[in-house]
Amino acid sequence: MILVFVEHVDGRPDRMSLEALTLARRLGADLGEPVEAVLFGAGARDAAGVLGAFGTSVGHVITDERLDAYAPEAWGSAIAQLAAKASLAIAPGSERGNEIMAHVGARTGQAVAANVTDVRAGERFEVTRHRWAGSLLEDAVIEGNPKLVTVAPHAFAIEEPAAVAIRLEDAAPEVSEKDLRVRVVRHEPAAAGSVSLGDARVVVGGGRGVGNAESFAILEELASLLGAAVGVSRVVTSAGWRPHTMQIGQTGQRIAPDLYIACGISGAIQHIVGCKAAKRILVINTDPDAPIMGKATYAVIGDLHTVVPAISAEIRRVLGAA
Ligand code: FAD
Repeated sequence: MILVFVEHVDGRPDRMSLEALTLARRLGADLGEPVEAVLFGAGARDAAGVLGAFGTSVGHVITDERLDAYAPEAWGSAIAQLAAKASLAIAPGSERGNEIMAHVGARTGQAVAANVTDVRAGERFEVTRHRWAGSLLEDAVIEGNPKLVTVAPHAFAIEEPAAVAIRLEDAAPEVSEKDLRVRVVRHEPAAAGSVSLGDARVVVGGGRGVGNAESFAILEELASLLGAAVGVSRVVTSAGWRPHTMQIGQTGQRIAPDLYIACGISGAIQHIVGCKAAKRILVINTDPDAPIMGKATYAVIGDLHTVVPAISAEIRRVLGAA
């Protein structure tokens, strides 16, 4: 059995978990093993119910209410118990997925291969995984059971096969109070109407070239016209212009939009690893020799303070004319 940890929002599995299920389904076919999922918290039952379409035969829904809120040690312990019957356990390469899998590794005594981009399950179980935030790819062999991997964001495109029935099973693994020492106690909702960076089809990114916190208003206006999310470089979060949750890159979020509009960003490698999965990149920069030009699908050489409002004005004009 292949066990997949599935994260979900509002009763729907999230994109990176569905990518992890794509890998699981492929390996399940290669190895002749069923794919099962484990889900925690409110909305778990609804989210599990749709997983049959993604090749999952059993959804384990954790019923212990103490585990409804995120608690990495307790969730790791629960998954380790379910994974006792698994040859392989997979999690999305999200912050939670990687953190939980580290706990599963500690509980089971197994190594974890984090952020894999490929798995070859032949005589040897070989993986290709990110090192140095994806700047290098490393081939490795995993031994023992259960094998533990997390899946690099956007390394596998989501495949949706014909619907297959899924059986839901209640699961109540043993969890001690000690395992609940670290847990989420409060959520701050994101601003109303904001689009999540990880899921956005269009992202407007701003860097040092934006100049100050107030000037982000022009990027936010463009984003709202496009239904896009706003992301930033580390210079911006270090300066306190915007919070770290908006940072794209090695120490921020990985994005994979259809279009990334990079404004006043030079294209340091630590930034590029976060946006290289974008299908197209529009660069707006005063410097024609900025490193990010090498990644650009389209480029506008110019001052973003003029170019961005001009794009917004044109979109408004077209929308107004429609
Ligand atoms: P700069 O490099 O200063 O570039 C500013 C750009 O704006 C220039 O290209 C300039 O030509 C252009 N510009 C200036 N004025 C205008 C204007 N008016 N109109 C248009 N263009 C203009 N960085 C990240 O982004 N994400 C990370 O996750 C990250 N992690 C890191 C981890 C480590 C361990 C380290 C060491 C660094 C990390 N960094 C990260 C930092 C990274 O190395 C760069 O310093 C950072 O990405 C640079 O940000 P920037 O492009 O906004 O600024």
